[in-house]
Amino acid sequence: MSIRVNEISDSVTLRLNDQAVKMAEEGKTVYNLTTGQLASKPDFDFIDSIKSELNFLKSYQYSPVAGFVDLREKLISYIFEDRHVSKEHFANLDCVISNGGKHNLFHVLLTLVDPGDEVIVISPFWISYPEMIKLCGGKAVYVDTRSFDAFTPSLEAIKKSITPKTKAIIINSPNNPAGIHYSDEWMKGFAELMIQNENVTMISDEIYFELSYFDPAPTYFYNHRPELLSRTVISSGISKCLASTGLRIGYCIAPKKLCSAISKLQSHTASGASSLIQRALASYEFKLIPDYLRPIKNQLRVNAGIVREVLRSRDVARCWYQPLSAFYFMLDLSLTPVFDKYVENKQDHNDYSMKICEDILNKCGVALVPGTAFGFPNSARISMVLEKTPFQIAMEKVADFLIS
Ligand code: PLP
Repeated sequence: MSIRVNEISDSVTLRLNDQAVKMAEEGKTVYNLTTGQLASKPDFDFIDSIKSELNFLKSYQYSPVAGFVDLREKLISYIFEDRHVSKEHFANLDCVISNGGKHNLFHVLLTLVDPGDEVIVISPFWISYPEMIKLCGGKAVYVDTRSFDAFTPSLEAIKKSITPKTKAIIINSPNNPAGIHYSDEWMKGFAELMIQNENVTMISDEIYFELSYFDPAPTYFYNHRPELLSRTVISSGISKCLASTGLRIGYCIAPKKLCSAISKLQSHTASGASSLIQRALASYEFKLIPDYLRPIKNQLRVNAGIVREVLRSRDVARCWYQPLSAFYFMLDLSLTPVFDKYVENKQDHNDYSMKICEDILNKCGVALVPGTAFGFPNSARISMVLEKTPFQIAMEKVADFLIS
């Protein structure tokens, strides 16, 4: 096996998932709070659009490498209208459609990053960023955050992490795994910082943009300084906002020159993304997305309330912060009473995430993702997509464990 692939990590979630599946097969009740996708079908109008494209030959043939032009234009308009940026700032931008947000982010990084380049990543992070950076020969430079600050990075810490080798910074707001988005004030400060660092490209992973369930909705640095769009890549897709993780459509909006380069790369790695789904998206009315997501967001708001109430009722509110968006909550296990049972002493800085999550699965039948996967030791990610009643039961079991 190549050194390149040998050096990337396996998904640590797999071991726990295997165990959870085995327990369910043995007839045990398992509450799965690991999932990274909504538990709903996509919008019926979108499903209808897919159906109506089924009879066309074009739906089964190669699409242009960067995607159908009408859909690319539509996605660009969707983004600038939804993010409230005036059209003229998008004049020099283009769009490349690929097989999912992950695929698209990997192509962006492969296009930008040379061996030895640094890419700033905020911890906790989406698990694939560091591995993708590694695959490009780059170095991930981490900026840590804490639950006390609702996982918002300090601008001072970001500033300190910028070096002459910094090629890019990845900003993921709304955030996986923290389930928060950064404030407008933060975005304003970040915009000013980036204005001063003109060699740094901003990769804004906005895949959860539509899934904010508490106001104010997410805003971005380019709302304050639209000129930053000349070195920004906006990355998104339909996996989350249309509950279509399996349809594999993602896209990026970036300066034209960068899009041509990404497209050149994509012409050799994948060709154009699914023609059928692209055609369906071209005829689907994106304005329907907020209505489609309304009940889903209502449920997330209820589940976020359950997290708060259950942690408060067990007196473990020290690890609570207000989740706002995406569908996750990051549980800082080091702030809970049970943690004392794992650490040897105050100087013990080992990461017990996996061990604690294994114990939670075995003793409570609740599967969580250990925080190790996200670069945040002694924590676990809770996915909040389960229906209210099973979610409440699962949370109570977890909270009882935390005080045991
Ligand atoms: N970015 C973040 C932060 C994610 O959480 C995910 C998926 O979970 C992706 C990108 C990639 O999404 P997909 O490849 O399913 O479009």
